[in-house]
Amino acid sequence: MKEGIHPDYKECKVTCACGNSFVTKSTKEEMRLDVCSACHPFFTGQQKFINRGGRVEKFKNKYHID
Ligand SMILES: [Zn+2]
Repeated sequence: MKEGIHPDYKECKVTCACGNSFVTKSTKEEMRLDVCSACHPFFTGQQKFINRGGRVEKFKNKYHID
């Protein structure tokens, strides 16, 4: 094996701010995330949609919808 041709991928422990952790392949040995698939609003859903709902309510009030 010649060195320096391919990136040196190794097991990378990824730790998220929510406490979730998983292992992937990366050139780094360790990474930290603010969001992951376990806590990202896109996957967990609800909180962000609730916030958006609040904005919709304000929008309705502003334009006297309903
Ligand atoms: Zn997370």
